[in-house]
Amino acid sequence: MKNITAFKSLLSKPAAVVIVTHFKPDADALGSSLGLAAFLKKSGHSVSVITPSDYPDFLAWMPGNETVVALAKDNPEPEAKATALIAKAEIIFCLDFSNLSRINSLGDKIRNATATKVLIDHHLEPERFAMYEQWDPASASTAGLIFELIEALGEKDKLDATIATCLYAGLMTDTGSFKHNNTRHREFQIASELVRCGANPHTIAQQIYDTNSLERLRLTGFVLSKKLVVLPEYHTAYMTLSQEELKEFGAQTGDTEGLVNYGLSIKGVKMSVLMYDRKEEIKLSFRSLGTFSVNELARKYFEGGGHRNASGGQSKLSLDETLKKLLAVLPEYKQQLNQD
Ligand code: 5GP
Ligand code: MN
Repeated sequence: MKNITAFKSLLSKPAAVVIVTHFKPDADALGSSLGLAAFLKKSGHSVSVITPSDYPDFLAWMPGNETVVALAKDNPEPEAKATALIAKAEIIFCLDFSNLSRINSLGDKIRNATATKVLIDHHLEPERFAMYEQWDPASASTAGLIFELIEALGEKDKLDATIATCLYAGLMTDTGSFKHNNTRHREFQIASELVRCGANPHTIAQQIYDTNSLERLRLTGFVLSKKLVVLPEYHTAYMTLSQEELKEFGAQTGDTEGLVNYGLSIKGVKMSVLMYDRKEEIKLSFRSLGTFSVNELARKYFEGGGHRNASGGQSKLSLDETLKKLLAVLPEYKQQLNQD
């Protein structure tokens, strides 16, 4: 962060703080938010974490989860609470996203809020709305950036098992358990410090990866055996899931997470795409290997973005039309997808 001295003085007296993360938060979004919340609470701030939607059960074990204000489609109460918290906040932290459009109705409320805004994120092409920024696209996780911010504040002595556990969860998942190409020496250094402070790699991994429902595994089996399509001429794999299919397997929030990676695990595949019907829209997940930028494709054609090798997007077309659109844009990328 450039103006760290001013930021330090902003935090020097107890304030009303709101932490917001992105729609359908993943472990990095929630872990960095709850880790930062626990850290700020230790300095006497009054802190609330708001999520623009629900999130999967495999994240609900994180320390501080019970305090999260999660917006819900069928209940206006959390949104009213979130609106009041944003209005009276003195500092608003935006974590693991950097385009206010990604938090739906909360975006404009935050844009118009009088609070001092702080952006902590690692996605490409951020919107510049915050007075303070800890933005680093080279960092594998926002959780790692929270660690580095605490370090820059000279407050590493405040790290405890609660904070470390939340941050480790984000670091572990956004690096794909330390195997994606965003995993640098730095990620291992941060992981090492978090473990020293009480994060338990085994139990965190178990709670996130080994708490599947049988339905989720059956859905995975169905997708792999019936829905995974490979287009060798484009080195591309894709999968689609309709509302009916998701219903048939009793799919819950988070059950589709990770499916897209199976496509990328096929030898020779450079891009994998998962498209599924979220009712309001079709959600797309993109993953790629090497220099092929799914960020560019998602941004150009699917109102999305993210990182070079992991991006998301959406489409208001039907599932069939969305697939047709993807197939129609592939020729534009054929040459790039065929490069080594
Ligand atoms: P996922 O496919 O797991 O939802 O997302 C992959 C990555 O892209 C994550 O880092 C996620 O935060 C980001 N992402 C997902 N959807 C969007 C989007 O609509 N816009 C932007 N800018 N990033 C996204
Ligand atoms: Mn992240």
